[in-house]
Amino acid sequence: MPWCESCDRFYNPKQLAPDGTCMTCGRFIADPDDDEETPGKAPWHFWILVVALVAYLGWRLVQVVIWAVTGDWPG
Ligand SMILES: [Zn+2]
Repeated sequence: MPWCESCDRFYNPKQLAPDGTCMTCGRFIADPDDDEETPGKAPWHFWILVVALVAYLGWRLVQVVIWAVTGDWPG
């Protein structure tokens, strides 16, 4: 539970500004990363999935190009 020394009270993490500062006095109280994952911010495993998908689709594209040029399906 974040504690603001300036306001002398506890705050719910949702009552704080997005950067973890006090809405009342502006003092930095809590690391916003301690809170649950911020909506709209993709987790790291999502980007691994994206990279894998792009790599896979890129390889399929290379296969199609090789097939179109040589008539041989690689792999
Ligand atoms: Zn405060």
